[in-house]
Amino acid sequence: MGLVVQKFGGTSVADAVKIRAAARRAIQAHEQGNRVLVVVSARGHTTDELIDLAKEIHERPPSREMDMLLSTGEQISVALMAMAIHAEGVPAISFTGAQIGIVTDSYHTKARIRNISTERMEQALAEGKIVIVAGFQGVDEHYNITTLGRGGSDTTAVALAAVLGADACEIYTDVDGVYTTDPRIVKDARKIDRISFDEMLELASLGAGVMHSRSIEFAKKFGVPIHVRHSGRPDAGSWIVAEGDARRLGARVTGAALAKDEARITLTGVPDKPGVVRTVFGKIAQANLVVDMIVQNVATDGQTEVSFTVASDDLEDTLKVAKEAAKAVGATGVTHDAEVSKVSVVGLGMRTHTGVATTMFHALASAGINIEMITTSEIKISVLVKENVAKQALQLVHQAFELDVPGNDRPLESLPEWTATLALRNSPARPIATTADGNSTGGMEDLVVSGVELDDTQARITLLDVPDRPGYAAKVFDAIAEADVFVDMIVQNVSATGRTHLSFTVPREQLETARAAAGKAVGAENVRVEPKIAKLSVLGVGMRTHTGVATRMFGALADANINITLINTSEVRINVVTDFAAGEAGLRCLIAAFDLTAD
Ligand code: ASP
Ligand code: MG
Repeated sequence: MGLVVQKFGGTSVADAVKIRAAARRAIQAHEQGNRVLVVVSARGHTTDELIDLAKEIHERPPSREMDMLLSTGEQISVALMAMAIHAEGVPAISFTGAQIGIVTDSYHTKARIRNISTERMEQALAEGKIVIVAGFQGVDEHYNITTLGRGGSDTTAVALAAVLGADACEIYTDVDGVYTTDPRIVKDARKIDRISFDEMLELASLGAGVMHSRSIEFAKKFGVPIHVRHSGRPDAGSWIVAEGDARRLGARVTGAALAKDEARITLTGVPDKPGVVRTVFGKIAQANLVVDMIVQNVATDGQTEVSFTVASDDLEDTLKVAKEAAKAVGATGVTHDAEVSKVSVVGLGMRTHTGVATTMFHALASAGINIEMITTSEIKISVLVKENVAKQALQLVHQAFELDVPGNDRPLESLPEWTATLALRNSPARPIATTADGNSTGGMEDLVVSGVELDDTQARITLLDVPDRPGYAAKVFDAIAEADVFVDMIVQNVSATGRTHLSFTVPREQLETARAAAGKAVGAENVRVEPKIAKLSVLGVGMRTHTGVATRMFGALADANINITLINTSEVRINVVTDFAAGEAGLRCLIAAFDLTAD
């Protein structure tokens, strides 16, 4: 007998008709012989309305009381859903998060799940009941009601699927599935049949918006396949699955995303010495602010610039902290731009960034769009552009990669060897946090760093003082692509003075080819080369939402007196470059810092 978790979002339970339709979905799965657990969100715009109401009464409502209030939205939904199922003559029972023992930490309005006791749910399921659980909420160890952050019902659903060992977690929503990009911005966006957890993680927080990104972290960590479907249509939807089940032949890019409301902060004149970024991001983490991109390029004259982005809403708070941090580390200034957006392309098929970068940069250059900042991960390239051209940028990029052309019929690709380092190291470990008695066995949502890596086979090329204008990056990567050079990291920081540096890393044996190609494109006198570098990476899930990862990584390196010469980040990894000689020691200190064992 199977076990299915079904989650219905707010729009899928907005009124009585929709609640009955959702109830019938659950009953259908039940009649097919499955045990069925349903997670529901608050109806329609209930949560927004409650927030508005609270703000009418208090400008900054105490977060504990906010949770007390917001949790009622889901409590209404579970009761109505249980009634709808009873009305069809099928036994059902509803529970709040507290009643089934979803224990969280005490960070009100953004709590994380510590553990879940399965006893009560399992008993009700064994009795043949459909179990309905309120999403988005839990209770801390002192029985204070907590909520998991906006969109948190997805996380509840995936977490319950994980601890119960469900066959799949079905997410019923008001869209057909996961799209190549936001169909509201790009009309030609297509539905993706299958996408990997990592691709989804890289896309999720970027505005693809279909699911709460913490829920994907969970699904990846516990190996729960997710099936996203429209609640009102019989369509096949999209599957979010492990990498081996998602990779398709010949597809370079799977999706493109836009994070529209970003703000950029830059510390200028930052001394180039160990410990600086630890101090900066330590202060930001302490203030509980979530940083998105972090970019630092090579120093000239003993000074560098460190840029990062935050949600626009957090700009003011972050600026305060950034100014303190600048003073503490002896940086000369802080600049910011409230009107920037991040455009990214993501794909498992991005073996090397060369061709992908060229295509992306060309698409932007063709419309005269300037690239303010670049950062990459193994499966992603992100650029920062001005907000007023961001939508156009997304459209151009989507078209350039032919994401509007059907590609789902392509056969699945078997995993080539090079992905070994990328492979999901966190093998599914489902029941680790399950406790029948409610005793904690460690936080389910604890920081998960699945591995650290040292790559000391690469060289770095830096193009000094490149002009801050459209088309420059396209020209450089054209030449590099033509020379058949494999590019791994690409880093470009924002320019404080109208000029900036552009760095990228290549296999050491291709250094001379790359140097020659770059020199031809931009003039040999502007090309600086570091033949031996060490690239250190921390990879895992929740890299972004756990601001502490960056701090711990930078701190460990600072303690070992290792200087970081370049930083680039994504949702699933933080990469830094150090001197070649520091690589081994850097790897060892990261293994220790993240409690990993060397194999
Ligand atoms: N009702 C909550 C919200 O609107 C949780 C959810 O819908 O997932 O954010
Ligand atoms: Mg929602």
